[in-house]
Amino acid sequence: MSLDWITPADRLRALPPYVFARLDELKARAREQGLDLIDLGMGNPDGATPQPVVDAAIAALQNPANHGYPPFEGTASFRRSITQWYHRRYGVELDPEGEALPLLGSKEGLAHLAIAYINPGDLVLVPSPAYPAHFRGPLIAGGEIYPLVLKAEQDWLIDLGAIPDAVADRAKIMYFNYPSNPTAATAPREFFEDVVAFARKHEILLVHDQAYAELAFDGYQPTSLLEIEGAKEIGVEFHTMSKTYNMAGWRVGFVVGNRHVIQGLRTLKTNMDYGIFAALQSAAETALQLPDVYLHEVQARYRTRRDFLIQGLGELGWSVPKTKATMYLWVPCPPGMTSTDFALSVLQQTGVVVTPGNAFGAGGEGYVRISLIAELDRLQTALDRLRQANIRFQPEAIAGK
Ligand SMILES: *Cc1c(COP(=O)(O)O)cnc(C)c1O
Repeated sequence: MSLDWITPADRLRALPPYVFARLDELKARAREQGLDLIDLGMGNPDGATPQPVVDAAIAALQNPANHGYPPFEGTASFRRSITQWYHRRYGVELDPEGEALPLLGSKEGLAHLAIAYINPGDLVLVPSPAYPAHFRGPLIAGGEIYPLVLKAEQDWLIDLGAIPDAVADRAKIMYFNYPSNPTAATAPREFFEDVVAFARKHEILLVHDQAYAELAFDGYQPTSLLEIEGAKEIGVEFHTMSKTYNMAGWRVGFVVGNRHVIQGLRTLKTNMDYGIFAALQSAAETALQLPDVYLHEVQARYRTRRDFLIQGLGELGWSVPKTKATMYLWVPCPPGMTSTDFALSVLQQTGVVVTPGNAFGAGGEGYVRISLIAELDRLQTALDRLRQANIRFQPEAIAGK
């Protein structure tokens, strides 16, 4: 019997191919050829989860009270830890009953929010480049994306003045993310104030992704959307345990902000999932209560790698500005090369995996993202191999390859 009639729904066909999946195939092929891969492609932290968090999880596992379905809206105790953490960090009071919702990782929430709030044809403002869930969620929901193309000349900040009034008036939601994945750009507080004023004027729901709330360096403190006066009336902010606490595999994140928006997301999720295993919520509370010295260690790790790689790339002709946050460097491709060609050529010639910028939307073309997810000796090997393959930021150096 032919199964041609079992076709995926149209909403899946709206999606561009997932570049990371394609990159995985290429990596598998390179491995088969015996290449020793240095994978700086994914945003997957390479460190272990802090021991007190692991210990808390083990203890919580032993408690049968945690073995059943967790409450839909997350445990009261984890929600309280979220709002207490938020208050300690930003000085903003949130109600654990309704203004904080645990998520199975923030990616899940970012995508489900789109399904909960976007009707087919609704206009959604999304930066380009952006973290893929920021445009893939809205595409699955049938939304129409208006790309806010980011530029190096504007320090990768959204140019609100360039958005035509007619577009802003039609837009229902705007996604954004600072400190940014993939550009590693940060936004000054005044930018957040401008975004809030813009969203209030045009009645746009603001969705801020603050995955890198704690991965900042040299004294820089990222701004939270909800610190801005009036933001809670029109916005929500997504957080994740994945990056700060090396907990990517645990799938724990949360959203804070506007009660009404969170309620809509919760209603959708009650129909889709049962939330996070209660034992893991208990461990996540421990993570949010870790002393700051832990954060300083994680920050120092990434800062050291940042400095090391910026210096090494500098010797190969790249002048990469010092990043103030995130675990990424956003590096221009040698002139005349597309991001895919460059990433493939680096992979084939050196076994070093970087992510082509177009994985993050057309606005990422011409750049690759390098994740700071290997120890210094591996980063040194990566630099050595680039030098041996004569991969430099000079057009003539790569000509004829
Ligand atoms: C890593 C990352 C996420 C995903 O976090 P999870 O909580 O692990 O789903 C979300 N947004 C951005 C910008 C990220 O870099």
